[in-house]
Amino acid sequence: MKVRQVGEFGLIDIIKDNTLVDPSSVVAGIGDDTAVLKHPSGKLLLATTDMMIENIHFIISGDNGRQIGYRVMAANVSDIASMGGRPTHAIISIGVHPDMEVSFVESVYEGMKACSRDYGVNIVGGDTVTSPDNLVLNVALLGLVDPDKYLPRSGARPGDLVMVTNVLGDSRAGLDIVLGRCSISQEGEKYLLDRHYYSNPRVEEMAAGTACGGITAADDISDGLGSEIHEIADASGVGAILKFEDLPVSDYTREVAEKTNTDLIEYCLFGGEDFEVVITVDPRKADALAEAVESATGTKLTVVGEIVDKSEGVKLLRNNSLHVLPKKGYSHFKK
Ligand code: ADP
Ligand code: MG
Repeated sequence: MKVRQVGEFGLIDIIKDNTLVDPSSVVAGIGDDTAVLKHPSGKLLLATTDMMIENIHFIISGDNGRQIGYRVMAANVSDIASMGGRPTHAIISIGVHPDMEVSFVESVYEGMKACSRDYGVNIVGGDTVTSPDNLVLNVALLGLVDPDKYLPRSGARPGDLVMVTNVLGDSRAGLDIVLGRCSISQEGEKYLLDRHYYSNPRVEEMAAGTACGGITAADDISDGLGSEIHEIADASGVGAILKFEDLPVSDYTREVAEKTNTDLIEYCLFGGEDFEVVITVDPRKADALAEAVESATGTKLTVVGEIVDKSEGVKLLRNNSLHVLPKKGYSHFKK
């Protein structure tokens, strides 16, 4: 059945079920003019939004709606995580071509709902409109953070260590598999595809990290560490030196880089959408922090560099020589 056959209200009716994971904070959800939400006193409210457009951020092929839906929600959850907060409520706007299959929209919502369940998010409203062409998905996400726990990009100081969660570059390597640029073992391809489609926003890791203390700045890695470290350096008025040999990379991603004859930095520094987190850390707290995060979540933190004076710029140490790290990464409107 096509969207034009069920119409706007029919479509909303189809997608509106199973949207609340914690109804206790929702006075009114889908079905009124606005959502009405309870706000716990003493918390700061976090608000973020991410839009994804067909053929820019994703390609529709076969039955990949669930993956697309999961990804747009996870991208927002990751932004809340990098502020040290927990996501709470989402508002979803969609632009849909009238000839789209209703079942595809349903599968996109299944993905968004699956991610919402994974991270405790209530879907409390949205908007549904006609798109003349491509599918448009926008998620606005609210979250909460303790006032003394929130992590700005601007807190990094010279002497801080730079640490990242887990490994870098898997999502870009997974994209190479999707696009058929190379093939590796079945097990390896499964791992990379999973990492590409179903990222793990680091909410629990950041909760354990902020509880332990020592984090001075944080950013989620959506455009590659090479881009995010510039964001932190610019906001904090500092420089940074990353050590290439210390960047954590999975064996499967190394294999893909070799097979496609591509410099590994294209994966671990300039590959997008890993949704890991980069933090800067008081060096006296780094060991305790890594231990606290790993024992609470199983996720490793790795030291990948240090914060230096602004005059030193942002550099990459590789084979014992320092290179200027270009401000690279995906940027809209540029060639
Ligand atoms: P209004 O005309 O008052 O803006 P709508 O008819 O657009 O309301 O939407 C009806 C209800 O359904 C509202 O509560 C709205 O938040 C919700 N809603 C509309 N589209 C979506 C969507 N794509 N996802 C989730 N909720 C939606
Ligand atoms: Mg409306």
